[in-house]
Amino acid sequence: MKQATVDQQECVGCGACAEIDPEVFRINDDDKAEAYGKVTDANEESTQEAIDTCPVSAISWED
Ligand code: SF4
Repeated sequence: MKQATVDQQECVGCGACAEIDPEVFRINDDDKAEAYGKVTDANEESTQEAIDTCPVSAISWED
């Protein structure tokens, strides 16, 4: 199963990923996004959309 990861150094906390894919991404107490949820068949497409939308390319797939 794929999993997403957010580079905490790169994230600017815009919130776009959490809006697009709230099952996987949320904004943490440091105002950065974190990938807290599992990527499933149901949300994989929106996870990819979040990756493509992130303005600073902070999200990537993990092996
Ligand atoms: S879209 Fe990118 S910059 Fe914006 S909160 Fe998500 S990871 Fe951070």
